[in-house]
Amino acid sequence: MGSIMIDSKLLVLAGPTAVGKGTVVRRILEITENVVLSVSATTRAPRAGETDGQSYFFLSDQEFDELIAKGEMLEFATVHGTHRYGTPKQPVLAALSDGKNVLLEIDIQGARQVKAHMPEAVTVFLAPPSWEELVRRLEGRGTEQPDEMRRRLETAKQELQSQGEFDHIVINEDVAKCALSVVDLLSA
Ligand code: 5GP
Repeated sequence: MGSIMIDSKLLVLAGPTAVGKGTVVRRILEITENVVLSVSATTRAPRAGETDGQSYFFLSDQEFDELIAKGEMLEFATVHGTHRYGTPKQPVLAALSDGKNVLLEIDIQGARQVKAHMPEAVTVFLAPPSWEELVRRLEGRGTEQPDEMRRRLETAKQELQSQGEFDHIVINEDVAKCALSVVDLLSA
């Protein structure tokens, strides 16, 4: 009976610290059209080179609370025990109804919430080739102090245990191949 097939997808990409989510996302955006990356809101301060409204919407705690109270967050979570991050709902729904695929690069708690609210979302866990490789990547990045590194690895250990909850697990061995595997899921 003449129902309209809308095949735009909400793709949720999550994975432990230092697995290379950012690099894979950039690659996905390079090799695809019709995929938009959702801009998250956060209460953390901007880093050098980050632009408000592009990297994140940088909000005060109060502004963040207001968005939650108004029901305007699709999901939100406190990440690495420090700051809050969340996905503004309206831009995601608008892009989807516009026929675009939407990519969320969020943490695992957020991925769970999205899947609970929108079961049609496709969730992808980006996994490292091995635990040793994950540690190597985190150390190689050299952006975290030893304490913060320990905290992130502790979180990563727990996160790796939750990969079974995801619709797909993609191993980030090679960025180009990994991005292609994720993009393939959009046409599946
Ligand atoms: P960073 O502070 O390094 O930019 O991001 C830290 C972590 O926050 C990343 O692991 C990223 O996946 C997560 N994150 C970024 N945006 C969101 C969001 O909108 N929601 C959730 N739940 N996590 C997010």
